[in-house]
Amino acid sequence: MQNDISKLLLARRAFVKNISMLLASLMVPSIAFASKSSKKNNKNEDGNSQALVPAHVTEIRHWSNPSYTRLSITLNQETSYKHRMPDAKASNQIYIDIRNAALVAGATDISVGDGLLKSARLSKLNADWVRLVVNVEILKKYEIFPFYDPYRIILDIHGEGRAGIAKNEDNIHDRPSAVEEKKLEPKRERTKQGKIRRIVIDPGHGGKDPGAVGANGTMEKEVALAIGTKLAEKIKRELGIEVVMTRTTDVFIPLQERTSIANKVEADMFISIHANASPNKSTAGIESYYLNLAKTDKVAQLAAHENGTSLEKVSTLQAILFDLMANYKLNDSAHLADEVQRALYKKVTSKYQGSKNLGVKQGPFFVLVGATMPSILVETAFLSNEMEEARLSDQLYQETTADGILKGIGSYIMSLKG
Ligand SMILES: [Zn+2]
Repeated sequence: MQNDISKLLLARRAFVKNISMLLASLMVPSIAFASKSSKKNNKNEDGNSQALVPAHVTEIRHWSNPSYTRLSITLNQETSYKHRMPDAKASNQIYIDIRNAALVAGATDISVGDGLLKSARLSKLNADWVRLVVNVEILKKYEIFPFYDPYRIILDIHGEGRAGIAKNEDNIHDRPSAVEEKKLEPKRERTKQGKIRRIVIDPGHGGKDPGAVGANGTMEKEVALAIGTKLAEKIKRELGIEVVMTRTTDVFIPLQERTSIANKVEADMFISIHANASPNKSTAGIESYYLNLAKTDKVAQLAAHENGTSLEKVSTLQAILFDLMANYKLNDSAHLADEVQRALYKKVTSKYQGSKNLGVKQGPFFVLVGATMPSILVETAFLSNEMEEARLSDQLYQETTADGILKGIGSYIMSLKG
């Protein structure tokens, strides 16, 4: 009994550590793991500004997706912001007021005209505030939240369909409006007919972000790319399905761009490939994840404790996730994770001894946030384990892993047809 409890605690600890390590290694700390330096600026909530160096907007970017447009405002340091619609009736403007900010040459206004977002213009409001005026066509709702490293304010704009985007998105005409989609989930119907037309494979990490690194120097970013590339070839060849890769070289891609790519190409499936790490060198095995909130207060509390942050911050994170998960295909993702986990474990143990089935798990993984299709993250094996590091760097093991994931994808597609 004592043993069982300590096992449970260890498992929970490993789970939370794993998430926090993954988030850290993926370069996007969540709210719950916000950096200590940021607290200094946030303490001044009431505006008693001491002589703070003002923040500068360094870049404004946007991504047009079929059902929403994402605007990203990068700042050179963290600061607070307010947002509102100045005229609720007209609902075609959003103001984002950035505290303790100054205008500098370089950050340019943008004109978009994608049928949803018209433009975004920066102006100096007064000594302390910079205002970004976002002009939209017809706004249905918007979500705003921060990302870190570098600090960004992300605005997701959802509208009533869009007018001008059809020329860029050739599939747009057969997409239902957002309203219909909610009622009928036609995308699910489409996949039910077995029409998985496009799969996005996302090799984790890359460029300046190596991910986990084994004792012998094997880097997660290399292993993920090798397995992802093999998997992509197999999907094309054996399933005859189109594959889009988020990266094919050793390049850094911010997390939110990865799901944006999947949404933009209207992928029917998103699979992120990773290799695991644990402080316990004997930990080994395969696990698959889908996106979900921490289920109990205990998990949230433990997350707060483990990360040296307040429970309040964890609940802020949960609230943000809850909003973002409105379009997440929870059941389909759980189902896909299940098929992939099962097939991958089976394949690996048919050729290699000593692998463990760590099962399907759920957690707040930022790489899955914002995906609108079934999407999972596969932790293929542990780089922190000597035996598994050797295997992960071996071509044959990579091949076997790709075969296993392929088998799982195949089973998932078969089950949709039934
Ligand atoms: Zn990873």
